[in-house]
Amino acid sequence: MRDFNMIIDGQPVATDHHLSVVDPASGQPFATVPAAGSAHVDRAVAAARAAFPAWSRRPEAERQRLLHALADALEANMPELMELLTRETGKPLSGLNGIGAGMEVGGAIAWTRVTAGLKLPVEVIQDNDDARVEVHRKPLGVVGSITPWNWPLLIAIWHIMPALRAGNTVVIKPSELTPVATLRFVELANAILPPGVLNIVTGERDIGATIAAHPDINKIVFTGSTPTGRKIMQSASGNLKRLTLELGGNDAGIVLPDVDPKAVAQRLFGAAFHNNGQTCACLKRLYVPDSLYEELVAELARIARGTVVGNGLMSDTQLGPVQNRAQLNYVHELVEDARARGARILSGGQPQAGGGYFYPPTVIADAVDGMRVVDEEQFGPVLPVIRYTDLAEVVARANLNDNGLGGSVWSNDAARAAEVALQLECGTAWVNEHGAVQPDAPFGGIKQSGIGVEFGRYGLEEYTSIQTLKVMKR
Ligand code: NAD
Repeated sequence: MRDFNMIIDGQPVATDHHLSVVDPASGQPFATVPAAGSAHVDRAVAAARAAFPAWSRRPEAERQRLLHALADALEANMPELMELLTRETGKPLSGLNGIGAGMEVGGAIAWTRVTAGLKLPVEVIQDNDDARVEVHRKPLGVVGSITPWNWPLLIAIWHIMPALRAGNTVVIKPSELTPVATLRFVELANAILPPGVLNIVTGERDIGATIAAHPDINKIVFTGSTPTGRKIMQSASGNLKRLTLELGGNDAGIVLPDVDPKAVAQRLFGAAFHNNGQTCACLKRLYVPDSLYEELVAELARIARGTVVGNGLMSDTQLGPVQNRAQLNYVHELVEDARARGARILSGGQPQAGGGYFYPPTVIADAVDGMRVVDEEQFGPVLPVIRYTDLAEVVARANLNDNGLGGSVWSNDAARAAEVALQLECGTAWVNEHGAVQPDAPFGGIKQSGIGVEFGRYGLEEYTSIQTLKVMKR
């Protein structure tokens, strides 16, 4: 059992009470972390507030250099961070299509370096004989970051790096289910950053709520479920905190009739099942034309049955366990509901016996809109496949969902597919792939999937406020 400390004002902080962290491959605890109280949040916010003036005044080049040093630290500690991620999330070290703990740490390094290189130039609106008008981007102050359990380190990096790059200081609270890789990263980062610039507190939902309501925090960046996002929005209203909310998704993929089912099935499978479907922008509802339906579902089920499910620490594992017991039960409940309503379960469909939270990849044929597994975000290794005949009608059906994170269209005619993709109501639309994000392109949800975007210049600007400067010349 490994014990972790929080880091507040550059110092390790232990508590009397602890939370156990469970390895989902065994269902047994493997680490303990502090259970913070609200006084710890106050201390962390005070440290971040005290560190803000000096950090925000540092020359840009210096903050950029320190971000690169953080990327170096991630790189130097990659094997340890990967193992911690696999132990706490269950995701394989390598995984289906290489999407696993290695990719999570690799992504964290890449995002840190790209974010280090982003610029916030002064924009000149007017410069004539009358006046010069400039738009400056200023840091906001203290940023509170609250993260979920599916990609804990990568999402922490997505929050922390643009916040620091823009000159803010940070208090982060990771998910109580997956805090350890983030704790270790913040420990490493505090050997590089000045004290108070990056603080971490660990605790349950109440600690998240304390952060969301804290009067001395200026912005919350939250990634997690839509119901929690709503609560955070309410709590944040007390001092008009700025908000970036990256919330749930229920992404539709639409296959056009011109594709070869065998050629496209592997990529569709990867888009739906990587990380066991526990990615916000996984493909979660697949719409397939009548003409291809039976061949494509059979191919997806064949791939599912050939997928290696096991402990993520084993090198040949493609999919690990579901991250937690409650999620496993929820996923199975949705599958049982579909079964009871007449859907065909072509692969999987039952939790695996044994100690861990294993659920084999489950392809559901004859799913229809209105079934819970189609309408709700399953966030697990399950893909409902829905039949359609008319393209305009299926686009309308795909758009009926309250979520609006991502969507995709699959076709041999990329231009035609792009036209259809632009009709989808979502923050990112892909053609012939689904869920791929990159550090220089904005990503975020519309409708109930969130507010604001992350990544690139657009994402960086969310960690700033605008100051307009007008200098009269006459
Ligand atoms: P969750 O909302 O249950 O918890 C996320 C975090 O919020 C945890 O740290 C938790 O302790 C904290 N929290 C819970 N209640 C709170 C409250 N009242 N106030 C403040 N903080 C509170 O989400 P989860 O189950 O950890 O994550 C899964 C969800 O995250 C899925 O819906 C998924 O789609 C979504 N997600 C979205 C994105 C995206 O970019 N849009 C990315 C990853 C995950």
